[in-house]
Amino acid sequence: MKTTLRTDITVKDICEGFVYNELEGKGLFGLSGKLTIQPEYQRNYIYADGKKDVAVIESILKGYPLGLIYFNTVAPGKFEVLDGQQRITSFGRYLTGKFAIMDAAGIPQYFGGLAADKQQKILETKLLIYECEGKESEIKEWFKTINIAGVPLNEQELLNAVYSGPFVTLLKEEFSNSQNANIQKWSAYISGSANRQEFLERALDWVSKGNIGDYMSRHRYETSINPVKTYFNTVIDWVSTVFEDVEKEMRGLEWGRMYEDYRRNPYDPKQVSKEVHRLYADPYVKNRRGVFEFILEGMKDHKLLDIRVFDEATKRSVYAKQKAEAEAKGISNCSYCAIGSESNKAKIWALADMDADHVTAWSKGGGTDPSNCEMLCKSHNRAKGNR
Ligand SMILES: [Zn+2]
Repeated sequence: MKTTLRTDITVKDICEGFVYNELEGKGLFGLSGKLTIQPEYQRNYIYADGKKDVAVIESILKGYPLGLIYFNTVAPGKFEVLDGQQRITSFGRYLTGKFAIMDAAGIPQYFGGLAADKQQKILETKLLIYECEGKESEIKEWFKTINIAGVPLNEQELLNAVYSGPFVTLLKEEFSNSQNANIQKWSAYISGSANRQEFLERALDWVSKGNIGDYMSRHRYETSINPVKTYFNTVIDWVSTVFEDVEKEMRGLEWGRMYEDYRRNPYDPKQVSKEVHRLYADPYVKNRRGVFEFILEGMKDHKLLDIRVFDEATKRSVYAKQKAEAEAKGISNCSYCAIGSESNKAKIWALADMDADHVTAWSKGGGTDPSNCEMLCKSHNRAKGNR
């Protein structure tokens, strides 16, 4: 890979002919049309938060270094931004009045309203730019290893870079477009944001059963994303049909896996809704995120709900009471040992050798309060198991 350092290009030069696509949130072109700011493998512009974009402009005004910018030379005099897209888009958006910085008095200052000397300072700031020339694979390999100042690329952004092509472009139009009207619906079940590729990541994760990179490599040059869209929508439709209520704990659950595991079972959404409400109201259910799979799997695996256990104080007081009664009667302080015929009939167990048991199981309505607590020796507690 051949690199040439340029120190003559100014902020003004790079913003010449700046085009920003408001709909897709992308800086598109600059440098009088010679520069593509957001090539396919770049991530969406994520600096538009009133902090990072403002910080870029304030850095210029304070004379702080802006870091290196890398261009990929795609043809003589034609470049793509390899690294620096977020910074360049911030310059362009500021110069075209898309956001303001705050002055010392806390008054918003758009570029057009800045003092002339400050405007000059921004326009004349020279950038440090490396122009790189190399094979696509070399550049991508290198791109994979760089760390963009401030916000490192996440896993899906890297994969988008490595497997750039028509497939990724189409996927991003669908899943990484924050203007997509479906995002609100998806957000009920998926956590993250379109800009950081988290919907795209889930869509690929589900359809590929967890082998995202492999799937992207196999489909890289395809010009249809219908299988991804169809599968994704099928999962979302299934969840929203089975569960009529949207609860915040649903966000980010493994819906793709649950769809595969449970889609063959019939569910009555009205009944499901009742169960969700009942379990949400149950003070012994510690893990509400487990409620949905608990219902899907037929309400057998209580571990999913992380049922509240007896606390130490309860165990100690129940132990003390049982021990006193057992000693008075000359029998074991484990009620199961006491009625057995073994040598433990009269054994007084130490607290450390006993476990707390629900007399009436939680699943049969028993609570986690002292009146429903009985201490059993460890082996009898285990034998009694999860009734
Ligand atoms: Zn026992």
